[in-house]
Amino acid sequence: MYSEYQHLIDLSDYPVLWWKNLIELGEKIYNNPSEYAHKCDGKIMATLFYEPSTRTQMSFQTAMIRLGGQIIGFDNPANSSVAKGETIKDTTKIVSNYADVLVIRHPIAGAAKAASLTADCSVINAGDGGHLHPTQTLTDLLTLKIEKKTLSGLTIGMCGDLINGRTVHSLCKALSRFEGNKFVFISTPELRMPVYIKDIIKANGSSFEEVNTLEEAIGGLDVLYMTRIQQERFPSEEDYLAQKNTYVLDRKKMLGAKKDMIIMHPLPRVDEITVEVDEDERAMYFKQAKYGMYVRMALIMTILEEKKFSETLKGKTYAGVRCNNPRCITNHEEYLPKSFRSSGDQTLLECEYCDERKLI
Ligand code: ASP
Repeated sequence: MYSEYQHLIDLSDYPVLWWKNLIELGEKIYNNPSEYAHKCDGKIMATLFYEPSTRTQMSFQTAMIRLGGQIIGFDNPANSSVAKGETIKDTTKIVSNYADVLVIRHPIAGAAKAASLTADCSVINAGDGGHLHPTQTLTDLLTLKIEKKTLSGLTIGMCGDLINGRTVHSLCKALSRFEGNKFVFISTPELRMPVYIKDIIKANGSSFEEVNTLEEAIGGLDVLYMTRIQQERFPSEEDYLAQKNTYVLDRKKMLGAKKDMIIMHPLPRVDEITVEVDEDERAMYFKQAKYGMYVRMALIMTILEEKKFSETLKGKTYAGVRCNNPRCITNHEEYLPKSFRSSGDQTLLECEYCDERKLI
């Protein structure tokens, strides 16, 4: 299924060279923002935020304003027709008549892909449930390029809520495409990285190990990517409380880290990094949030200038087969074609919206 607009739903839909060009453009804009002040004159971006956000929403909005464009949108669906039961299909169909690009954040996996099937303009995924967050990954790659001067040969520790963290899912998919990167996943057994992400890492030729404590990993890392335990994704308060406060990066733990290890975090922070660590020159998370605006400027410009077609669904529907994941958009919006990719052994299908696998 094709759309005549160019979308960014998952970075893996594009060749690595495309991401590299975006990051390079982001760095150029960072070094010389005034040169880009009129690149999107007369264009309108709509931000449809069905889930809370500070950085992603505001950095997208300021990115468009700094390019000379204008913004519309909502950040509280209760104030829009969503509260009256409007589907993603209808909302995106309507708003895409008003805007040149839609930026969508939603609590359900696959929602941005669903929007791209019907929108009459480009769609950018600004986070779909616990699934993916490609523009955070662009932010992270620009941060690594500027602060570590490379995207390859790094040992990257990821710590915290790895099962629900869309930022780390997208980042693993991307960094495993660069040579020589190794991952160390630091989490409790309940919060381990999903198997499908680990399979992608292996297929891309990168390696990973899984450990339980920060102390055993920190000394070997070039990058430590901390994440918040995401209360809103847990089935119950009790399950959340059992995981809360497990990992806290403090000054004492930082004594065991390399002198040039950088600390990243997509933010917001709850209590997983103590405030005293903010003074450590290896703490990069506030700068990281700033770089996000420049790379989003690069993305908006590129998507609006290139105007390429996108292949939105590549898989097939199978009579009566639907996704098992209750947090997949196909189980919330009935009209969506239930499309699956088939894996090598033909008995395993992968949902094209949320990547959940099922046996047939
Ligand atoms: N801001 C990030 C996200 O939207 C991380 C987080 O919420 O913890 O996924």
